Amino acid sequence: METIQSDVVIIGAGGAGLRAAIALAETDPGLRIALLSKVYPMRSHTCAAEGGAAGVIKGDDSMDLHFGDTVGGGDWLCDQDAVEYFIDQAPKELTQLEHWGCPWSREKDGSVGVRPFGGMKIKRTWFAADKTGFHLLHTLFQTSLKYESIRRFDEVFTTDLIVADGRVQGCCAIEMRSGEMIQFQAPAVIICSGGAGRIFPFTTNGAIKTGDGMALAYRAGVPLKDMEFVQYHPTGLPSTGILLTEGCRGEGGVLRNKDGYRYLQDYGMGPETPLGEPVLKTMELGPRDRLSQAFWQEQKKGNTIPTKWGDCVYLDLRHLGEAKINERLPFVRDLAKSYSGVDMVTDMVPIRPVVHYMMGGIHTDINAATPLPGLFAAGECACVSINGANRLGSNSLTELLVFGRRAGESALAYVRGDSKPTVDTAEAGRQAAAAQARIQALFDRADGGETISGIRDEMQHTMEEGAGIYREEEPLKETTAKVASLRARQTGIALKDKSKVFNTELTAALELGSMLDVAEAVALSALNRKESRGSHQRLDYVDRDDKTYLKHSMAHYQGEEAPRIDYLDVVITKSQPGVRDYSGAKS
Ligand SMILES: Cc1cc2nc3c(=O)[nH]c(=O)nc-3n(C[C@H](O)[C@H](O)[C@H](O)COP(=O)(O)OP(=O)(O)OC[C@H]3O[C@@H](n4cnc5c(N)ncnc54)[C@H](O)[C@@H]3O)c2cc1C
Repeated sequence: METIQSDVVIIGAGGAGLRAAIALAETDPGLRIALLSKVYPMRSHTCAAEGGAAGVIKGDDSMDLHFGDTVGGGDWLCDQDAVEYFIDQAPKELTQLEHWGCPWSREKDGSVGVRPFGGMKIKRTWFAADKTGFHLLHTLFQTSLKYESIRRFDEVFTTDLIVADGRVQGCCAIEMRSGEMIQFQAPAVIICSGGAGRIFPFTTNGAIKTGDGMALAYRAGVPLKDMEFVQYHPTGLPSTGILLTEGCRGEGGVLRNKDGYRYLQDYGMGPETPLGEPVLKTMELGPRDRLSQAFWQEQKKGNTIPTKWGDCVYLDLRHLGEAKINERLPFVRDLAKSYSGVDMVTDMVPIRPVVHYMMGGIHTDINAATPLPGLFAAGECACVSINGANRLGSNSLTELLVFGRRAGESALAYVRGDSKPTVDTAEAGRQAAAAQARIQALFDRADGGETISGIRDEMQHTMEEGAGIYREEEPLKETTAKVASLRARQTGIALKDKSKVFNTELTAALELGSMLDVAEAVALSALNRKESRGSHQRLDYVDRDDKTYLKHSMAHYQGEEAPRIDYLDVVITKSQPGVRDYSGAKS
């Protein structure tokens, strides 16, 4: 088996992984960095982001306002020290990206343009038309090419962490084009493997978002934090789940029910506002959890439009006119035309809420460090936590930059620090051989009559049934039990494709294993949280209960047993829990 020795291994080459790699390479040119990705880096999900990245830049904005929006938007479950750090660093990172060549869209006077975004009560979202993620990822990727010390391993699929002596010491991975196992030995590992939206049937997430890195850390003893908080985005295309960015509403798009009525005014989201210019704080610019919940209520009232893909409402952008749509939203116009056959210049677009983002993830402290020495995490796979119970749109791209860099800096301090962590190469070799044997066992397994797609399908549907926009005790119990039984049943899957070269059946089986572990943590954390907060809405516990649940849920892996859930205090620095007000009143 090939062995690669380096100082830091990064699992994931999306926005967070590339930013971490650059931070390491520019600070210490002598460092050996291995950057692993199961796809070519530009195929990472960051590339799909459309709307923008938040950071205070204009005179009428302030750090305090961004802080207030983020903490209130997160229903006070954010760690406020992490939010303060994030907000302070955000403009620096976005400016740095500009210096590396990111083509931010401009105002007429040449200054950086900002657009409104849901839950942000002032315009602060930097954007590059509606292809922000593409430009951000491209900028990082190009910048990373400058550094010879970043050694890329594209299409290399990580299967296990190597943990010895109570520390992480590397990871094992399959080189997909040969099927051979590689052991990566390193005293520090940063996980930047993205989210896990694929545990649900209808999602904006790319097919690769299967929670692999979350499962790696979880199985190695690191808790998964706040997993019950799953974000639905209110505007997905009904057939595919493809996202129409929040920028649509930021630019003045409105939501209408089957009667053409702007129903959000009935849900505490402010009075109806004139069409055209967006009016901040109200209506369509409310936060995503509230808008998705309002859809559900309209559906219950019979005010949605039935389609063969499920019930929908309309996104209406017609009043913006063709010129503005082409300038600000060219990509979404194309998407609506290609996938729904609707031109948003002349017609309303049917849309419905769609699973979009995991607020929870690998537990880290403010330095992006996990409790396992040598292991760091950043980006969507991690929970630091700045998103609390509901992420505000456009905070995530900025989070990749701020905490990707921070993870790089922390890993560097760890490997260069006084403890001088080393790798026990003999033990690493033994663990890599064991990992290889486990993969071989998948090929040798007897057929128990189960299929990957069958189990995946059952998992996705039970997650939607029990852990969707609204939840309650009995369906959640059923979902938890079902996912546990599916975890057991996966041993009945036999791989039919025995080849080694690009064996996607093998990687799909491994991804399914990760998704089932993550799904169980989501369902059980949701069952145990008997209150409603942000994206976690319980029909049987409708109120927020700060006395009992102003706490992070921590799911601890227990092998074949269900995870153990306990709680960790939220860090509050300056904002005591209050009422989330999106009524349009001055705040
Ligand atoms: C359609 C869409 C639009 C969005 N729009 C916005 C927006 O406008 N603004 C905003 O702030 N946020 C947006 N988001 C959210 C944001 O884009 C993501 O949260 C963020 O890009 C995640 O970045 P990441 O670096 O954590 O992970 P990703 O970009 O998902 O990268 C994950 C990396 O991990 C690698 N990986 C995973 N598993 C393995 C494994 N087993 N072995 C090796 N490598 C592995 C992958 O190959 C990939 O390189 C959007 C999300 C979606 C889905």
